[in-house]
Amino acid sequence: MGIPVRIHYTLWVVFVLIAWSLAYGYMPHQYPGLGAMTYWAIGIASAVILFASVLIHELSHSYVAKKNGLPIARITLFFFGGVSEMTEEPQHAELEVRVAAAGPLMSFLIAAVLGGLWFLTNLARVPVAITATLGYGALINATLGAFNLLPAFPLDGGRVFRGSLWKRSGNLVGATRTATRVSEAISLLMMLGGFAAIILGDFVNGIWIVVLGWFIKSGAETGLRQTVVGEALSGVVVGDIMTRQTVTVPPEMTVQQLVSDYFLVQPHGGYPVVKDGQILGIITLQCVRAIPKERRATETVAQAMIPCERAAVVKPTVTALDVMQRMARDNTGRVLVVEDGQLLGIVTRGDVMKTIQTRQVLAA
Ligand SMILES: [Zn+2]
Repeated sequence: MGIPVRIHYTLWVVFVLIAWSLAYGYMPHQYPGLGAMTYWAIGIASAVILFASVLIHELSHSYVAKKNGLPIARITLFFFGGVSEMTEEPQHAELEVRVAAAGPLMSFLIAAVLGGLWFLTNLARVPVAITATLGYGALINATLGAFNLLPAFPLDGGRVFRGSLWKRSGNLVGATRTATRVSEAISLLMMLGGFAAIILGDFVNGIWIVVLGWFIKSGAETGLRQTVVGEALSGVVVGDIMTRQTVTVPPEMTVQQLVSDYFLVQPHGGYPVVKDGQILGIITLQCVRAIPKERRATETVAQAMIPCERAAVVKPTVTALDVMQRMARDNTGRVLVVEDGQLLGIVTRGDVMKTIQTRQVLAA
């Protein structure tokens, strides 16, 4: 499907832990009387099935999303399972419900297939190692499907819930707020339940439930923030919010002069470098700081600046949301807006934040 799949290093640790706990705990308990090697073989095969199942679950979200024109940046598998990173949110409620429901449905489908195979192999009296692995595969997929159907946003069930609220009210932010509140209540109950389990002596399961609850709570908060920001910035392009009257500096000026005439007396943290109407780059306070004090009188702005090829440069038609992601990725606070080599303006993180605040106030 053209989607890169990344494996987070925590997955390897958990892979070994799961294979080990199956080989030493679960399998000998369920199917006593087998050899150590056989238990390890079952443990490893079951762990492979578990992570393959998580990947197929994520791929079915991605498949439905891609088929409906929603781009998927990548799938990351990590120790809690998988995440499909969508670069955009679904444009309408029905699509959100369909994308969210695809994962758990696929998990239940795999559970049914493996469960059927388990039943048949049981009748055919094949080695217990095979039936044990199939049985575990069916159980884990049913669990995966059921857990993800919890109405706790941003789990799949929570997304289905948000999508149906959104469809009824037509208000995405309102629906997300409600779904987040429900999700926080569920995660709080999970954490309380986990602590109760710890106090009652079931330490491992208790910790597991507490961590899951915390994971859902922080996921819900992040999801709400993303939705609020996405909604506030929807339809806004860089050309709308950039500062047009920018103070520029010539490339032949010395760094010393730049400091005394610009940085010390003007409020900006960076200046575009322009010669004969052509944009050459940008010089920021960090660039100046990299030049030792004794060399600032001789070094020029052209030598110290970040040239256009390496600077954050965008066209005026780029969306404000993309620019915000770009700033986070490049760890920069200002982006040059350039068209055909001409500087049109500059957008700072402050410009984006102010736009979000203003539009939120006006929407409330
Ligand atoms: Zn899912």
